[in-house]
Amino acid sequence: MEYPRKSYWHYTAEGIKIPIDKEVDLNKKFDILIIGAGITGLTTAYLLKDSGLKVGVIEATEIGYGVTGYTTAKITIQHDLIYDYLINSFSFEEAQQYKKANEEGVNLIKKIIEENNIQCDFKEQDAFLYAASEYEVRDLERELKAYEKLNIDGYYTETTPLPNKTYGAIGIRNQGQFNPLKYLYSLYNILQNHCEIYENARALNIEPHNDHIDVETERGTIHADKVITTSHYPFDDSFGLYFLRLYQDKSYVIAARTKEEPFEGMYININDPIYSMRYQFSDRENLLILAGGNHRSGEKDDENESYEELEKFLYENFEGAEIVAKWSTQDCMTYDKIPYIGRYSSSIENLYLATGFKKWGMSHSAAAALILRNKVLGIKDDYSEIFIPSRFTPLQSSKEFFSSVKSIAGGFLNRLSIAYDELPDVDIGEGKIIDYRGKKVGVYRNENGDYFCINPVCAHLKCALSFNEAEKTWDCPCHGSRYDIKGNILEGPAVHPLDRIKIKK
Ligand SMILES: Cc1cc2nc3c(=O)[nH]c(=O)nc-3n(C[C@H](O)[C@H](O)[C@H](O)COP(=O)(O)OP(=O)(O)OC[C@H]3O[C@@H](n4cnc5c(N)ncnc54)[C@H](O)[C@@H]3O)c2cc1C
Repeated sequence: MEYPRKSYWHYTAEGIKIPIDKEVDLNKKFDILIIGAGITGLTTAYLLKDSGLKVGVIEATEIGYGVTGYTTAKITIQHDLIYDYLINSFSFEEAQQYKKANEEGVNLIKKIIEENNIQCDFKEQDAFLYAASEYEVRDLERELKAYEKLNIDGYYTETTPLPNKTYGAIGIRNQGQFNPLKYLYSLYNILQNHCEIYENARALNIEPHNDHIDVETERGTIHADKVITTSHYPFDDSFGLYFLRLYQDKSYVIAARTKEEPFEGMYININDPIYSMRYQFSDRENLLILAGGNHRSGEKDDENESYEELEKFLYENFEGAEIVAKWSTQDCMTYDKIPYIGRYSSSIENLYLATGFKKWGMSHSAAAALILRNKVLGIKDDYSEIFIPSRFTPLQSSKEFFSSVKSIAGGFLNRLSIAYDELPDVDIGEGKIIDYRGKKVGVYRNENGDYFCINPVCAHLKCALSFNEAEKTWDCPCHGSRYDIKGNILEGPAVHPLDRIKIKK
């Protein structure tokens, strides 16, 4: 598998994870099956490990290559401007639920780290939302008032240690940051003795029955009493219409050595262009983690521009900075800014999901793990109601969906081959869509001059793919599926690879 750029976390967490046997037959039976081994799936498994139930986890690719491996890993309940919005657009009680769930999430992560002595460079930090212009100060004041109403331990500060111009910030005390992959791999190691975890085990289909659920994979069918889907984007479109109710938003991250002394605190501003900054402190070195360049997935023609823009900000504000790694990733967003955590569909028993963390998935993943654990074990709580996935605004969601889909009816290639001497002129490292005898073909040429041709139609809901020059991937603008140059799936919701087009010599 050719993963897009590795993040700094991949390099620094190498060797921590115990190797996994990837060839095991998956015709198996579990009490609970968890689909997807990112931070949400493994935290849920962690909470179920002593339940006496037989728990299985299947991961489509390798642990650490979902969004969790590419995050900026701030663990906080400060999620942009949210609490004033929740009080006014939902209710005070619902705002309290949101806050409580995330507080419980932050506390759970801290507890897991402490109880297991996980070495993941965890550091307690205050989280800050800063104003990058004078008129944004009013928004901060409103949000701070919401903090007061909700009893959030927040405060206002006029100054920040940031090198760019700021106009004050609101902080929340005692939040945290860590190396997400050191944490994730450690969770996996702990779970080894408690449940069965399989990599390269993509779930293809979920089939609910009266008394159990069958999950089809490429290596067999798993029979489970209850199924929890933590696959980031829900991959089975038969239930819940999530493809109408979610979109993906992309951001870019740079890890850099700076000449300045690292500052304490984790910072983000409130309006575009977003610049999120914090330092990662470790025995090895202290690095600036800078993120930004947000845009809806598939909406940018040249993703290199986003890196360039972020690099410009870096060099202007941190003179002499040296880039160590850069990467990008996308997260699922809901239209009402509340994640979906609970039953996948109100008409199906024993099938659950968690998604839509809108780039605040550290606290949300742990909150989701608590809620999902409570649901499957029948434990009551007072913070899960606001996340119920069946809250639904079909008209609004459909309109958004149909206006954004770049769907295609015809003109693309089904099964066909292409003659070598009819291949187009493509530069090394370039990918493009060409017309071949009236049909579209996606062509990429690698550094050895070899060509790779695919049918550029997403295997999920048949949207037209575009080539991502920055990452060398084929990306779907509709729901965020991504494929490598050979058509292998890098990110769902797609569960099937792209059709490869044979090249005839
Ligand atoms: C640039 C960026 C920065 C961010 N920074 C922060 C931050 O500072 N703080 C914060 O709180 N949040 C942040 N987030 C959000 C956070 O990283 C994510 O919400 C979180 O990591 C999602 O975790 P997950 O376990 O739900 O998904 P993932 O980590 O993606 O895990 C899902 C897993 O499911 C697997 N899978 C998919 N389909 C299938 C299938 N069919 N069968 C089996 N397995 C499957 C995938 O391979 C993957 O490993 C950021 C997001 C982005 C994009």
